Order: sequence, then C-alpha cells, then structure tokens
Amino acid sequence: MTIDYLIIGRGLTGTFLSYYLLRAGKKILVIDDDKPCTASKVASGVINPVTGRRIVRTWRIEELLPFAFVAYKELGNELGINLVKQCSVLDFHPSLQMSEAFEKRLDEEPEYLHKTTSVDWKQYFNHYYGVGEISPCLLVDINPMLNRWRDNLQLGHNLLNENFSWDNCTVHDDHITYKHITAKKIIFCDGVTGVENPYFKNLPYAPNKGEAIIARIPGLSPDFIYKQGLSIVPWKDDLFWIGSSYEWNFTDVLPTAAFKEKVAQQLGYWLKNPFEIVDHLASVRPANMERRPFVGLHPKYRAVGILNGMGTKGCSLAPFFAKQLTDHLVEGKPIYADADVKRFEKTLAREMN
Ligand SMILES: Cc1cc2nc3c(=O)[nH]c(=O)nc-3n(C[C@H](O)[C@H](O)[C@H](O)COP(=O)(O)OP(=O)(O)OC[C@H]3O[C@@H](n4cnc5c(N)ncnc54)[C@H](O)[C@@H]3O)c2cc1C
Repeated sequence: MTIDYLIIGRGLTGTFLSYYLLRAGKKILVIDDDKPCTASKVASGVINPVTGRRIVRTWRIEELLPFAFVAYKELGNELGINLVKQCSVLDFHPSLQMSEAFEKRLDEEPEYLHKTTSVDWKQYFNHYYGVGEISPCLLVDINPMLNRWRDNLQLGHNLLNENFSWDNCTVHDDHITYKHITAKKIIFCDGVTGVENPYFKNLPYAPNKGEAIIARIPGLSPDFIYKQGLSIVPWKDDLFWIGSSYEWNFTDVLPTAAFKEKVAQQLGYWLKNPFEIVDHLASVRPANMERRPFVGLHPKYRAVGILNGMGTKGCSLAPFFAKQLTDHLVEGKPIYADADVKRFEKTLAREMN
C-alpha cells in the first residue's frame, strides 16, 4: 500500500491534519490506538481569548479564534453535526483586588471584556465581588467530533486501530515504511506519547496533568461557562464539566481522591443549588516549556514530521496549525517561525547522533 502521509494519533491534532490533507486530495492513513483518557477526550473544549490573573490576550488569539470557529463549523457540516457554539465566560471575581483589576482592564480590552448582563447570578451562586463577562469565547463539542471523524475515516479505509510501534517502521531519506505501508512522510500527532519519540524526544516537553469532575447541577443554564478558580462548563445533556488541576509533578495519570474532595468543597461554597458528581476524569496535556506548538518536518530527517505541543490550548491551536502544516506539506508555504519545529534544529540534529 502506497500513500502520501501516515499520521500517528487521532486527537484534536490528528483529526484536523487528516481532515485538511484529505481535503487537499492527499492519500493518507491514520493510526490510533483509541486510548480512553487522552487529553482531547478529557478536555472541556473552551477557547477563551483572555486568561490568567492579568486577564491578557492569549498568543495570536485574534487569528486563532475566528479561524477555529470556521474550522469547526466546516468540519461539523461535513459530519452533519454542530461542533461549536459562541458563548461567554462569566468571571466571578474571587476578591476585591481581582474585581478592580477586571474593571481596569474593561477599558483597555473592550473587544473581549464586558460588564455582565442583567441576570441576577446571586440566585445561583454565592459571590461577593461581582461578575465580569468574557466574550466571544467558543465551546467545542470534542468527543462527538472525534467519534464521527473516526467513523468517517473508517468508511474511507483511512484508519488503522492499533498501537504504532517503531519496531515496524523504517525511515529513509524520502519515504518511510511501516509494515506493508510505504508513505512519503510520517507525521506524529501523538500527544503526550511524543515525549518518547526518538526523533523528537529532546524537544522541551513539560507534560501537565489535569483532572476534572463531571456533575449534574439542576437548574443551571448550559448557555454560559462559569469561572471562579474552577470552571463550570456545559458538557452534554444536563451535565457540566468542572475543573481543572494543573500538575507538573505526578506519578500516575489517575484521578485522585484529593482533587474530587477539593472540588466538592469548592462547589459546596460557590453553588446555591445541590449538585451530584457522576464521573471523574484525568489526563495529561502535551505541554511544553515555551508554550508554543511544535509544527513541521524534522530539520534533518525530512520524511518525519510533527504536530504536537498544544499544551492547554489544543482547541484553538490544533485546527490553525494543522492547516499551516497542510499548506506547508502540499504547497511549500512557510510555518510561523515561532511554531516551526525547525527552531530546535540544533537540538534535533544532536539527539539522533
Ligand atoms: C483536563 C484537561 C482539560 C483541557 N481543557 C482544554 C480546553 O478547554 N481547551 C483547550 O484548548 N485545551 C484543553 N486541554 C488541552 C487539550 O486537551 C490538548 O491540547 C489537546 O487535546 C492535545 O491534542 P493532541 O491531538 O495533541 O493529543 P491527544 O489528544 O493526546 O491525542 C493523541 C492521540 O494519539 C494516540 N496515540 C499516541 N501514541 C500512539 C501510538 N503509539 N499508536 C497509536 N496511537 C497513538 C492517542 O491514543 C491519542 O488518541 C485540556 C486538557 C486537559 C487534560
């Protein structure tokens, strides 16, 4: 079997890369082992344009957010489901200081920061320092997208459900072979497993564990995302995703009793309505020290490529950089220098010697 591109992984990155390469008329095959708790399957699906204590714009959000909206709309149209909606994050200020900081930023950032609408949130939440609104934000329905795209790939005979192993792969100058498959290039969209990839393992990965609770909160509107330290995000049916943690030091990727207790306690203080915890999720974000993605071909081994390092922002970064990588592969267009993996040329040349 001879193809153009062999893609390893079918999370947010592999989904969009396979989508754009197929759209460009390329012959592809995706290999994915369908692990149950990958970063993409556990993510809440929020694209928030301003974050952090200083409430500042995230990297390149002016381009990424509108691009993501169109990308999810178009993929959704192809799959016959709606994958994205525009919504607001309601920022419940946790202290007087944060309330004042938000007020000050209102004038400086009128595009994304607003005073709240007239709903009296005191009916639903215990809060003392006011509520600000961040919009437009996007909320992506990730799991239906992953499932429907998997079915779509399967229908086109473009998917192998198995674990990719280097034992079966040989890299040549201008092609690779994997079992009976010959491909012009192999592109790794393997998320946190990428830290073990012999071609890219010296990239400055900094995997980050995150946990979330799934809970039923009767009476709470699913039209908003609620934030006060924790985020409460509409999940599916009458359920909400509540999280998350950010841990750099961890020994396993399992949900912990400590996180569940902490969330239950915080929700108890914050919510006026009762809630019922129905699930608890954990996964590892493919984060890195630079907080910029790894996109492009290996500077020395040109048959091997990567789309990884999406960290906490895969929902906005994956569609945009999958398209850039596709345009680079198909038309030779440049990748942004601060995302192109060739910025690590020296490190990457060293590691294979
Ligand atoms: C708790 C939590 C909440 C998050 N919330 C958000 C959010 O609201 N918004 C946002 O933008 N981002 C969020 N993120 C980050 C986001 O999930 C990631 O940036 C994104 O999912 C990374 O996608 P990926 O395709 O690179 O990796 P993954 O989702 O990990 O996909 C990699 C795929 O490759 C497969 N694979 C790996 N190795 C092999 C192999 N050897 N053989 C076969 N298959 C293989 C895996 O099974 C998997 O399917 C969150 C992450 C976590 C953990």
